[in-house]
Amino acid sequence: MEAKFIKELANLLGPEHVTEDPAVRRQAAVGGDYLPDVVVYPADGEEVARVVRLANEEGVAVIPWGAGLHARRGLLPYKGGIALRLTRLQKILEFDRDNQTAWVETGRSLSSLNEVFRTGRLFLPPDPLEGGDCTLGGCIAANAAGPRKLGYGTTKDYLLGLEIVSPTGEIVRTGGKTVKNVQDYDNTRFLAGSWGSLGVVTKAMVKLKPLPEKEVPLCLGFPRLEEACEAAFNMRQELGPVALELMDAVLMEALQESGHPLPVRGEACLLAAFAGFTEAVDWQVDQVRAKYGQAAEVVEAGEDEAATLWEARRQAWRAMGGEEGAILGSASLPFTATGKFVQEARSLFLSGQQKAALAAHFGNGHVHVFLKHPPSHYEAVGEVLGRLQDLAAGAGGLFLVENINDLAMVRRWVEGRGPALIPLLRRIKEALDPRRVLTPNSKVLAYVLDAAGATETAG
Ligand SMILES: Cc1cc2nc3c(=O)[nH]c(=O)nc-3n(C[C@H](O)[C@H](O)[C@H](O)COP(=O)(O)OP(=O)(O)OC[C@H]3O[C@@H](n4cnc5c(N)ncnc54)[C@H](O)[C@@H]3O)c2cc1C
Repeated sequence: MEAKFIKELANLLGPEHVTEDPAVRRQAAVGGDYLPDVVVYPADGEEVARVVRLANEEGVAVIPWGAGLHARRGLLPYKGGIALRLTRLQKILEFDRDNQTAWVETGRSLSSLNEVFRTGRLFLPPDPLEGGDCTLGGCIAANAAGPRKLGYGTTKDYLLGLEIVSPTGEIVRTGGKTVKNVQDYDNTRFLAGSWGSLGVVTKAMVKLKPLPEKEVPLCLGFPRLEEACEAAFNMRQELGPVALELMDAVLMEALQESGHPLPVRGEACLLAAFAGFTEAVDWQVDQVRAKYGQAAEVVEAGEDEAATLWEARRQAWRAMGGEEGAILGSASLPFTATGKFVQEARSLFLSGQQKAALAAHFGNGHVHVFLKHPPSHYEAVGEVLGRLQDLAAGAGGLFLVENINDLAMVRRWVEGRGPALIPLLRRIKEALDPRRVLTPNSKVLAYVLDAAGATETAG
């Protein structure tokens, strides 16, 4: 990158908000030695627009970053370009308690937003597994959600409008403060979940929920996996939990070893949460005890224990080896097929002596498989992964590996939607971003554009 260009960035943002320091650039690198050329810290949407406009004129790549907690999951390694750190976008421009909405900048973390919303007895429900440090912008880009997705939905369900900087540097507003606010295309929903490849989200009008009067998490330990699956199926149908997670014995043991023990024993445990009015929650908890108290060990968590339980769930992948030590597979299934998939996957691992653990957002039919092999051993476990793909496909679902850059696997899935889809996606990207400057290393685009371009410096 030319010194003249970096000087122009410094003129736009102030020299203290533009850095070529290798240590800072390394923090914004997706993989290995592939560093961005420069890291910039704009103050607001206007400054983001100026940076993107300049980059577009020069054909330089721009890659948005929130907290950076999970950027690797959506990005391929990339050398060069601008890392656009959005963490100075912190303002709450309006908090309207009566309309239960807020107009906020997107560089702020979920937990710090919720600290403010709680003063009005409101909250923003998405609870990504990476925790409350995730920025709102990162969650919008990934449409993130965690265990409470069962009761509350995903980030998109809380968006009424957005301010976006387009890949060519224009500021665009979508939606508004009212629930019915679309007269053209539903641009808010179209741009949210586009993984930073169609626009930089700089502000959001979010819809808030009243804090529930009471929330009770329960942990249930079952002697057999089959019983846990059956109980989870019935609990969702009959008792309406807001979260319903399953973890198998291998994971429970790994959590114990890594200092996050669960309070129950068995072949599997369920972590269920009930939230709402006190009388309703008390009734739900009584029902769980009456139905499963004999078969399972049931532990009701108080406020402090609840935090520990959710933290254990968040630590699942790390306990199994994390990004460098485990292969992370993800199955999306019809709810009715979830129990069968979990049990068949477990048998598959047992018969093959495969060290692997399972954790499921059971209520949503989403199962994480943690294979205890470094991602570099991907080829060696090809057969197991193939079997898991077959199991998921046979149940009408999908199995993908998340921390391996196997673009062919993703491409096959997209192609399965018919031959017209990839050309259509390509036309959308090219119409909005003709010079392909915005997040050219997005995994979602790598198979739409040419994957080879993803690791080269643009401009
Ligand atoms: C495709 C994908 C799906 C995910 N789904 C889930 C999920 O369902 N549940 C869950 O718990 N976690 C999920 N995650 C992981 C993680 O919880 C989320 O990415 C979380 O939002 C990270 O927040 P962050 O601030 O650290 O974002 P980062 O890690 O900094 O960025 C994440 C992605 O969003 C882009 N981005 C960040 N901010 C903006 C912005 N303001 N405008 C445009 N693009 C931006 C980045 O370029 C990057 O591609 C997902 C991650 C990805 C990439």
